Parts: sequence; C-alpha cells; structure tokens
Amino acid sequence: MTQSGFLDDFRQMSAFGATPGGGVERQAASAADGETRGWFSAWLAGNGFRVETDAIGNIFGLMEVVPGAPYVLVGSHLDSQPLAGRFDGAYGVLAAAHAARTAVGSVSQPRFNVAVVDWFNEEGSRFKPSMMGSAVFTGLLGVADALATTDPAGTTVAQALDDIGGRGAFAGLDVAAYLEIHVEQGRELEETGTTIGVVATTWTAHKLEIVVSGEQSHTGAAPMADRKDALYGAAELIVAVRRLVDEFEPEQLHTAVSEMYLDPNSPVAIAREVRMLVDVRSPATHILDTAIETLKTRIDEIRRLARVDIEIVRVTEWSSGPFLEEGIVLAAEEAERRGHPHRRSATVAGHDATNMKEVVPTILLFVPSVDGISHNEREFTSDDDMLAGLEVLTSVLTRVVAGELEAASSSAVALSSGVELG
Ligand SMILES: [Zn+2]
Repeated sequence: MTQSGFLDDFRQMSAFGATPGGGVERQAASAADGETRGWFSAWLAGNGFRVETDAIGNIFGLMEVVPGAPYVLVGSHLDSQPLAGRFDGAYGVLAAAHAARTAVGSVSQPRFNVAVVDWFNEEGSRFKPSMMGSAVFTGLLGVADALATTDPAGTTVAQALDDIGGRGAFAGLDVAAYLEIHVEQGRELEETGTTIGVVATTWTAHKLEIVVSGEQSHTGAAPMADRKDALYGAAELIVAVRRLVDEFEPEQLHTAVSEMYLDPNSPVAIAREVRMLVDVRSPATHILDTAIETLKTRIDEIRRLARVDIEIVRVTEWSSGPFLEEGIVLAAEEAERRGHPHRRSATVAGHDATNMKEVVPTILLFVPSVDGISHNEREFTSDDDMLAGLEVLTSVLTRVVAGELEAASSSAVALSSGVELG
C-alpha cells in the first residue's frame, strides 16, 4: 500500500541535485539542499503535518495526536557530501516521514505525539562541524557559534540559510525518544546476509583542525637551510597520520587527512600556511587516546624537522558508547516478527543519533549498503532493503508511540535550537 508510494517519493526526491553518475550533490544550505527541503516540507504539509523550522534550519513535521504530550522524534538528514550517493541521510528522512504517517494512523491509544525531522548540515562538508543541527538542538553547540561558522568562500551559515529561506523561529519541543534509520556505509550486513542492523555501539571519533605555519619565500632563490615550508610540514603530518594505523591491530584505528587549504598556493612561493583536517576513529577510547598522544609526539618532531609551527586549533569529538539496551531488544523483536534477518551493529560513522543518544532514549537502525560504498555516487541500497527498513522502522515507531519503550516514559527532555541573542 504505502510501500510503492515510498519508492515513488524516493525517486522524485532523488532528482534534486542529481549528478550524472547517479548520485546527488546537496551540500548544506546550497540551492539543491533548499530545493530538497522545499519538496520535503510540501510533502509533510500535504500529509497532515504542521511544518516548522528552527533557528539552525532543522525542519520539523509535527503530528499532534495527544494534546500536550511529549514527542517521539524520527528523522535523519537531507544534505549530502559533494558528489555523494542518494541514500545517505535522505533515505532515513523519507522513511521517517512515511513511518510517522502510518504509525499515527495505526496506534489506537497513542501515548506520545510524533515529529519528523530533517537535521541541518549533518555532513559537515561545507560548514564544520558535522552533525551541526542536532548538536545545536541538543545543546552540544551554541546556536550563535553555529550561525557564525563560515564555508571556504567566507559565507556564514546564517547567510547561507537565509539565501534558501531556511531559518525559522520554532521554539522546540519535549522529546521522549529519538529513532533513526540510515544506510550502513559498511559491508558487514551484506557479508552476513543481514537485512536489518540494530546499532548497539558507536566508534569514538576525534576531528582535529590543524594549522601548519611556515614562512612564505621564493621557491627557487631561498636557501634550503632558511626555508620554513608549511607544505613540507603538512606532508610529513599526512604520512604520520596514515602510519598511526600500523601501530594497532587491524580495524582498531581509522585515520585520514580529509581536507587541506594552502596559502598562497602560488607556483613560485613556499607555502606560508596549510590548514588541514585530521580524522581519527576507533571502537575503543583508550586506543584513540593512545593514537592522539602518539600523533602529538610526531607533531613535535615534525615542528623541528620542517622548522614550522603546528597548532591544533579545534577538536570536535564524539565518544564511543552503547545504545539503549531496551531499544535494541525492541527493534530486534520487530525485525524478527517481520521476518527480516537482523544483527547487532556498530557504527563507525557519526550520525545525528550519536548526538541524540546523549540526551534521550535513542534507537538507530541500518539497512545494507552494497559493497559498503558511501560518500560516493555509486552508493546503493536495493528497493527491497529500503522497504524492509521502512517496515521495521514503522513497527518500532508504532510501539514507541504506544508507550511500549519503558525508557521513554521517564520525563521527556525539552530540546530547542534556541534563539540567537545577538
Ligand atoms: Zn548520513
């Protein structure tokens, strides 16, 4: 019934920001993100939801069935990386909307209201940090700081949101629980013939913004002994970050240098400054801590070797930790009852659920990603797997709305993206 409707909607939505390689490009608050948000808001309004936008551009679709009761929030993100797949985030937002519509109609005695959410800037590709909208909503990041963040062209989040009409004044809501479904972005489900992953743990991650400072000089004329080449220092750092991995057991540490800006980036000038982003993740906090200490020692050595200064200017982190056991059990029951193979999963990637789980009972589900490919136009999840995920998400949401998740019954948490106080 609603299932063919879901696939039609998903195809329609995937046209916004579509790329020739079959993916999408909808970086946060870009024109394509704005078009997708507009389409989604119209879908919500057309299906009986009250649509609201908050100060950091999160879009909410509210369905109030129990006047004054707290909300079960369900969603993900519509923004994407550059040249990305069409499933990451967007699948979860649309599945949330369909699940919410069905759940509201099928619970005879609801305990909670339902709200769908599109979190602003989950990806963090245009504006750092990632998971921005949910970080502001949960109080992990101040709204004024987030709005003042600039992209590489110098445009602020506030300006970019205003350009797409993306800022509102929604005051927030009382949240009893949060649910999210996402593509796995790994190979475990596919390799084990599993349709539904119930996320039990998350990896811990540190993202370090690093500035390497040298001195601008002539690439030919400056004597080698006098040079303070920021790019040479950055190159040594890139190698050091990659080699950190070899000091631990396989799959205990993931590292990358993902972004670099070089000044003046001139053919005849030694770089005076390089700004780079270092991404370090591990399933175990003590391994990540050891890796960061080792990296700091290497940074000291590179300072001397390349005669540059290296400063870690900002660290964004999220910690490893378990998801709510009661939620894991409930989700596994629903996958089982619907006849879908399921298993406990760990997430390496950060998700808005990673922020939400720190403040409210949270359930995160995965569906398979073919070959584990993600942040790439070739990212793919089959129609059958998308529909299986929608079915389980709907069942889980229905039970939570009916009050069957005990943890959601303790007092709800008032959450809000606040109002910028100038
Ligand atoms: Zn995502």
